[in-house]
Amino acid sequence: MRRLLNLWLLLLLLSACSAAAPPPPPEELPPEPPEEEAAPPEEPAPPAAPEPYEIGDPTVQQEGYVPWNGVVEHLFFHPVIAYPELAFDGDTQANGLDDFMVTVDEYNRILQSVYDKGYVLVDINSVWSETAGEDGQPKMVRNTLYLPEGKKPLVLSYDDTNYYPYMLENGFAHKLIIGDDLKIASWGLDPAGSEVVSRDLDAIPILDKFVEEHPDFSPFGAKGCLSLTGYEGILGYRTQTDTKAWDDAKEATRQKEREAVQPIVEELRRTGWTFGSHTWGHIRLGDGNMTRIEADTQRWLDEVGSLVGETTILFYPHGERPDGNDWTLTGPAFQYLQSKGFRVFCSVGVESFSFIKKDICAVICDRLHPDGTTLRHSRDRYLQFYDAKDIIDLTVRPQREVSWE
Ligand SMILES: [Zn+2]
Repeated sequence: MRRLLNLWLLLLLLSACSAAAPPPPPEELPPEPPEEEAAPPEEPAPPAAPEPYEIGDPTVQQEGYVPWNGVVEHLFFHPVIAYPELAFDGDTQANGLDDFMVTVDEYNRILQSVYDKGYVLVDINSVWSETAGEDGQPKMVRNTLYLPEGKKPLVLSYDDTNYYPYMLENGFAHKLIIGDDLKIASWGLDPAGSEVVSRDLDAIPILDKFVEEHPDFSPFGAKGCLSLTGYEGILGYRTQTDTKAWDDAKEATRQKEREAVQPIVEELRRTGWTFGSHTWGHIRLGDGNMTRIEADTQRWLDEVGSLVGETTILFYPHGERPDGNDWTLTGPAFQYLQSKGFRVFCSVGVESFSFIKKDICAVICDRLHPDGTTLRHSRDRYLQFYDAKDIIDLTVRPQREVSWE
């Protein structure tokens, strides 16, 4: 009897223990991943591959598309101002930035307006082709573009998308990167100095996003042509050489930057962006200094062309024409640049003028320039694209004159 009681007490004790038992032993929990593989919690898994992207050819006739033989409008921008309070802070650069740049908000409004007015993007490389003339000599011809009915073609180009050091303190993105979603984003610092990765603060990802939201703005997948110098590297990566001071450590760093920018270049190309030369040193092409022009061109091909691939597009720095005149003259600078593969020579002007040269296989064209100068003083000329009154943000820009009030 006593033995039975003991057994009963023992059972009671055991059941009490098990009632107060701790949660399942550790071996029932999923094993902890090793430290270096631990993913930060709460973040969605990055996509395994980028979204497919299709590039079409506007020179190919297709059903529902109609031929366009009129003017192909061409607008160009510089990098856009993400933080106007840093750009327009009254320092020595503020008025220059006011003259030549637009802010993110202004840029967004311009894109919306050209879209609303029926423009669609085409790549500059689609507009002209090289062919053989009757005399067997190569020449440029204007292509017929086939566009959705009622639409007008628009080329965009972006000068100096190098993210020069002076821009970094002045409220611009610092570089392009590939974000967790595998899309092009900008990396930079906000006015408080915190790191910001965004698709809303730089002209390039902003246009990518706009086309995602309005696919009919780019029926062929075209975006813009990036006009690159080389002297501060490209796209925010310091891929340049320096002939004054150079050593193995600097070269090793440069090679790392070249490796780092390569996937950015590839993703841009894949998603409709193309590249052109703005010369290596942003040099003047009108001064007849052939030694300098030749050395500069070779350096651009070595340091930039080797990263972005072959291009036939040249954007004149300062809008300055080779030999001082590229229209009625084909001087030594123009001939040399053409011999290095350039066929489309872009300046800056008051309309999207273009002219196929007769004596050499090349075309020259002017671009319009949405910026502070034209927003303030050329409202009429840009009304076909937007009304400057609706675009310009006078609340953030320096207190300077406008001509249209
Ligand atoms: Zn420039």
